Amino acid sequence: MSRAKDMLEEDISFEEYLNSIVENIDDTKVQGIIKKAIDIGFNNLSEKQQYTVKNGITDYIMNECPNCEEKIEYENMELAIFNGKCSTCQNDWDKNYID
Ligand SMILES: [Zn+2]
Repeated sequence: MSRAKDMLEEDISFEEYLNSIVENIDDTKVQGIIKKAIDIGFNNLSEKQQYTVKNGITDYIMNECPNCEEKIEYENMELAIFNGKCSTCQNDWDKNYID
């Protein structure tokens, strides 16, 4: 029971991810629409608003690892973008670096 709950908590939604990056967005117009998406849900935005959000956050989206093409979940995305690779590749890289 508690394990299932833990798994749920780890799996963050797109809106939660938006919430974690919204303060990094310089464009106040885009930021405003992101805040609306967090409030009402991305899918409830108009098509034009969804487009604006997607275009405004391209620097913060890494759908798959450029190294191994593994899908990257939102909860790992900020770190993956920072490292330029997924956590598995980063671990391998760390190991090689230490050896
Ligand atoms: Zn990878």
